[in-house]
Amino acid sequence: MDAASAPPVVALEGLTKRYRSPLHLAVEDLTLDVRDGEIVCLLGPSGCGKTTLLRLIAGFETPDEGRVLLAGREVAGPTTWVAPDRRRIGFVFQDYALFPHLNVLHNVAFGLRGGSRADREARAAEVLDLVGLTIFAGRFPHQLSGGQQQRVALARALAPAPTVLLMDEPFSNLDAALRGSTRDEVRAILKRTGTTAVLVTHDQEEALTFADRIAVMRSGRLEQEGAPEAVYLRPRTAFVASFLGRTNLLRGEAFGARARTGLGDVVLSKPAKGQVMLSVRPEALAFRPGGEGLPVTVLQREFKGHDLTYTCQSAVDTALRLVVQTTADCPVRVGDVVPVALDGVAVPLEGSTGRATVGASTA
Ligand code: ADP
Ligand code: MG
Repeated sequence: MDAASAPPVVALEGLTKRYRSPLHLAVEDLTLDVRDGEIVCLLGPSGCGKTTLLRLIAGFETPDEGRVLLAGREVAGPTTWVAPDRRRIGFVFQDYALFPHLNVLHNVAFGLRGGSRADREARAAEVLDLVGLTIFAGRFPHQLSGGQQQRVALARALAPAPTVLLMDEPFSNLDAALRGSTRDEVRAILKRTGTTAVLVTHDQEEALTFADRIAVMRSGRLEQEGAPEAVYLRPRTAFVASFLGRTNLLRGEAFGARARTGLGDVVLSKPAKGQVMLSVRPEALAFRPGGEGLPVTVLQREFKGHDLTYTCQSAVDTALRLVVQTTADCPVRVGDVVPVALDGVAVPLEGSTGRATVGASTA
């Protein structure tokens, strides 16, 4: 079977999970595939059901409706149940969960079954080499940094060569300096080993940099999935637009490829008709000193080092506020009145006005 016809490594079909006490619909009718070698990030606010979804894949929870398939084999469904230890899944938790009394090599060897002790330790040594921790094999967890401990946890999860690796907020206990470098190392290891992985995070930047594909969840439902660029640049809803960074939500009257807005006539990313809500990223707006555009008064200027973020008010309609992001050397100051124009497309959002009709996606 070639890669194109092989079943996805993970297939979730119409999964629903209700907790009984307290009664809570944690995951609702969720369908998602994860393909071989792919890294999918589940992104969403706290409480939206990310951990529950991972636990359903792992078999720590039973679905109320729907099915879980691993490499084409049903492991949970109306009439099927395969126990967690029979699913060949690796799990990395937020708090590493290493055994304090075992050294690194023995922590990694712990999850291995079968073969002789020497075989298991040889495999553990091989995986430690893979994650660049060979020199720490004899150390105990308390003798390692948080980032190193998390790589040991990763090695332990990878040692049995799982079908899929599930990671629940694995970097959130690391301080900011270690988080970025550990994330890059872990991503490189997953790619080098061709590991299929699902990572849970509530951090949009982490999802954008780590994922091959992002699945945005909201209140137990899948709101949008796609490549990081696609989800960021072409959000389907106001929720996705706002969760993946700052955005301007503009009302407009659409007529096909364009719409009339407070910013003037703008080009749309896809055709729409009637009353629409549009997402315009701050970096898609530009000041045009002495040029054409909507005159705005600059209310606030935030210097961020690599860029500048301005909050402005339309000089025509004081209810219209716009956030504009520029390069760090922009000379515009608080109190200036400058024309602003759209330097790209506006994205029509679904479900943001009752009357909106958004055309078929061309994104
Ligand atoms: P996330 O990982 O996205 O923060 P969770 O999957 O942990 O979200 O939780 C989703 C929702 O289900 C939350 O509202 C949470 O309070 C609730 N929940 C989680 N676990 C249980 C449980 N064992 N019993 C009842 N409710 C739960
Ligand atoms: Mg969680």
